[in-house]
Amino acid sequence: MWWTWNQECQEIFQELSPRGWQDVYHNAVAVLQDISEYELRTRLRDPFFAKRVRNVLTAFDAYMNQKDTWAARNAPTLVAHSVAYFTAEYGFHETLPIAAGGLGILSGDHARSASDLGLGLVGISLFYREGYFQQSINRDNWQTEFYSPLNPDSLPLEPVLNQAGERLVGEVEINLTRVRFQAWKVNAGRCSIYLLDANRPENEPFFRDLTLRVYGGDSSTRIMQEMLLGIGGVRLLRALHIEPSIFHMNEGHAAFISLELIREKIAQGLTFDEASTRTRRQCIFTTHTPVEAGHDRFGQDLVQYAMQRFQPQVTSSFDQLMALGRVDPNNKQEPFCMTVLALKTTRSANAVSELHGEVSRKMWQCLYPGKSVDEVPIGYITNGIHLMGWMKGPVRSFWRNKLGPNWDKDINSEDFWQRMLDPEFVTDEEIWALRYRLRRSLIEFARRRYLMRRMSLGDTSFFDRLLDPDALTIGFGRRFATYKRATLVFEDYDTIVKLATDPLRPIQFIFSGKAHPADNEGKRIIQKIIHLSHFSELRGRIVFIENYDVHIARQMVSGCDIWLNNPRRPLEASGTSGQKIICNGGLNMSILDGWWREAYDGTNGFAIGEDSQPDSIVEQDRLDNANLCRVLKDEVVPCFYDRDDRGIPRKWLGRIRRSMATMLPKFTTWRMVQEYSKQYYLVE
Ligand SMILES: *Cc1c(COP(=O)(O)O)cnc(C)c1O
Repeated sequence: MWWTWNQECQEIFQELSPRGWQDVYHNAVAVLQDISEYELRTRLRDPFFAKRVRNVLTAFDAYMNQKDTWAARNAPTLVAHSVAYFTAEYGFHETLPIAAGGLGILSGDHARSASDLGLGLVGISLFYREGYFQQSINRDNWQTEFYSPLNPDSLPLEPVLNQAGERLVGEVEINLTRVRFQAWKVNAGRCSIYLLDANRPENEPFFRDLTLRVYGGDSSTRIMQEMLLGIGGVRLLRALHIEPSIFHMNEGHAAFISLELIREKIAQGLTFDEASTRTRRQCIFTTHTPVEAGHDRFGQDLVQYAMQRFQPQVTSSFDQLMALGRVDPNNKQEPFCMTVLALKTTRSANAVSELHGEVSRKMWQCLYPGKSVDEVPIGYITNGIHLMGWMKGPVRSFWRNKLGPNWDKDINSEDFWQRMLDPEFVTDEEIWALRYRLRRSLIEFARRRYLMRRMSLGDTSFFDRLLDPDALTIGFGRRFATYKRATLVFEDYDTIVKLATDPLRPIQFIFSGKAHPADNEGKRIIQKIIHLSHFSELRGRIVFIENYDVHIARQMVSGCDIWLNNPRRPLEASGTSGQKIICNGGLNMSILDGWWREAYDGTNGFAIGEDSQPDSIVEQDRLDNANLCRVLKDEVVPCFYDRDDRGIPRKWLGRIRRSMATMLPKFTTWRMVQEYSKQYYLVE
């Protein structure tokens, strides 16, 4: 996966097969499979090409063998004994679409930065052979879902083998069955990620399909997937003789880790109490969900059904097991909650932003009777992104041209980005030219995708003009969960039409995102946006790009001038998409929720509303829409179109400089993984 964050390496694959690179959706493995050994040798006789390949290989070897890393200096125990990071989804790259949204992207970025820092990290997740669903919009502008099977042979995956060189097979007792699993390994730089896969010929069809789709099926599939992840994941590590120093549960999905760790100790003769005390010392937990209903809960019957063979190995009674997932152990009506299990069986827990920490402490105070809200032991570490993974090619070339081949050495330091404040070091003209290049590239991408869609529907009555490369471009790309309020901006329709159709200072919108297959309200929101884009005064000024994924995200976060984020506060635990635009020169415009509440300083982007929210949701939506329109009209548009006599928007560029200088050193997984190490991984 190293090639996914090394541009020179990607350029080599692209040059080897330019059309193929596009057709296989930037899959380096598939490109190589299409090139014969003979062609490769022949092409490498071109000395210039050979030299570039050699340079990439040298850079790769240096990266893999680097000894003087941050972890070697600051966390040597975590180099020798890795962190086992369990998560239900991993988002690395568009070729391996096994993430549903931000949680998975965060896991991928966590791994990439752990690799950069030299930390020993072993990831555990599931291999969903049909991945997450693909979105297709039908003639009624209604989202439909389809699935395309992944072919492991042409993906950056290696089958995991045992010492005899055969497929390593493990098993987990689910229901009355021993469900077999195999695993695939992803090499994320120096870190290994193992993906468990139940598609074994020994399994009955139902269990073969257990890992078919990300969060697929009903709650019975869900609990069984989570058993495979938590219990099977620990067993896989044991089979590979990996001895982690800590188990990190990323979200409650992974909380069954602790049941397996307790089971192991009981099998060695410990009592349940001893086993759980020791297990607690080995585990930490990150919660991501500020909505009560968003936490996984399973009814007693279902837990009993799924665990009938596993439970007797862990607890003396079924009630004792249920108690681990209940706030009130004696309440027989209470379902089993994965977050409760995680909080009860880990040594420490954290939320993913300061505000989310407050919300989580309030939400789970019930588990800590006698403690005030402030004393509830849930801290926070604010999420970040992997900077090099999200910096677009032209931006990297910009820096390489300016600073030479080792330009990215100090990319995560304060000093590097402080220089953005120096107009002689980087001129306004340079930044503006780069912004134009990135915006154009996004608009051309959006037009191409739009054309493809119209053609696939047999419609050739295209607009003469879709999107304006000179116009202030606002992006909104993420899951279409209701609380994210994708259509909030259109609530004051007249104002938006006026702004969008202003002949001198127009604005335009690019949307993309998937609604959960069962979420009809989310689908209606998508329908409304597409409808507006076809049949309203906004025609040509809004586009919805179908089938949001990492590739579309990368285009959007680099090309948009404004990244719009208007969740219903405080429901955005952290959010990360707004962090991806900063290094590409976009500006964030957001409700003061999640990470933005910590980052916004009045000069480095735009805030919608105050650091508070009314109690009523209706009032909140009304207020947020009013503030959103006001900020757009009075601050964003005037600032963007205020040009000097050379045509340069000096104030806008000043904000971009402030945005980069104040936020780039902070809102990265480089900083985040260091904080996890210092505050959680290394602290008992
Ligand atoms: C970053 C990212 C997300 C998360 O977006 P938020 O706005 O933080 O929810 C979701 N999907 C993809 C593909 C991403 O790259």
